[in-house]
Amino acid sequence: MKKVVIIGCGNVGLEYLKKLCMTDINVEISLIDVDEDKLEGEILDLEHSLVYRNCNISIKLGNYSDCDNADIVVITAGVPQSTKDRMSDLEKANLIVVDITNKLRDTSFSGITLVASNPMEVITELIAHYTDYPYNKVIGTGTMLDTARLKSLISKKIKVKPNDINVYVLGEHGNSQFVAWSNANIGLENLNRFLSLDEKEELADETRHMGGVIVKHKGYTSDGVASCLLELTLCVLKDLKKVYPVSNYNTTYDVYLSTPCIIGKNGIEKSINIKLTSEEEEKLEESSEVICEALDKILPKELY
Ligand code: NAD
Repeated sequence: MKKVVIIGCGNVGLEYLKKLCMTDINVEISLIDVDEDKLEGEILDLEHSLVYRNCNISIKLGNYSDCDNADIVVITAGVPQSTKDRMSDLEKANLIVVDITNKLRDTSFSGITLVASNPMEVITELIAHYTDYPYNKVIGTGTMLDTARLKSLISKKIKVKPNDINVYVLGEHGNSQFVAWSNANIGLENLNRFLSLDEKEELADETRHMGGVIVKHKGYTSDGVASCLLELTLCVLKDLKKVYPVSNYNTTYDVYLSTPCIIGKNGIEKSINIKLTSEEEEKLEESSEVICEALDKILPKELY
């Protein structure tokens, strides 16, 4: 029986929970949130939805001791989403992370931590720093969602299955993100042969602003990122060794950044060293500067 603990059960946490309940994994799921009253209702409702499924899943109102022998802790606690820049609520988000990591440190958890909370790369780094967990075991969904959004947009434009479009959004799950077009291809034919420069710029821009557009229409986003969390969960629990662009510790820039990694039972099994053009490398550096600048406000480098 696998064990997953979800910390923060709002829109994203609950969507992830529902998706996890639709898998074939035998899993015990513990839920932690400051709003336990709402959680009681969510658990009862979801339990009833499992009755007619032939699955071995249990859900309970949890506490931090459940992390002791958990395989995965998923952190989706955070500040409610808005159409503002993801960095704008960093100080509030940091207080939540301090609260959670103080409690996590009192447990003997040694599994994989998956993070969806924003501002993504900054929060992933803070969690790794406050807990002192090994870098390979603390992973953020990063630009995995932006990459899915871009693949979906390109697919609609050129009528090719999204998953057959090999392209990555890299850097920051935020405004400084960029597309590594130089490596992008379909069936090994460079994507530059399918899209003009203007089209590529439009697609990258649309991807960058997609989260804000969804929040404007429905108030929050949840499905896309919950699917990324589920996919990463499957990679870890089933040791799938799939490649996704996730928030991971970057040794060149000494900070968490979104780049492609192989994900398996040990978390980040390998960070892929992609060859970028000098212009793309500059953009990656720009992302690292944005993330370092934000981190510096919370955790000045001299205190590291
Ligand atoms: P939400 O407000 O619906 O849920 C947040 C939950 O966290 C609430 O239930 C709240 O009670 C809980 N919480 C707050 N402080 C806590 C604490 N100290 N301990 C335990 N639980 C605590 O927000 P949401 O829409 O679910 O978004 C959650 C986070 O995910 C935000 O940071 C949001 O920006 C982020 N997000 C990320 C992506 C992505 O692609 N990475 C996409 C969507 C949302």
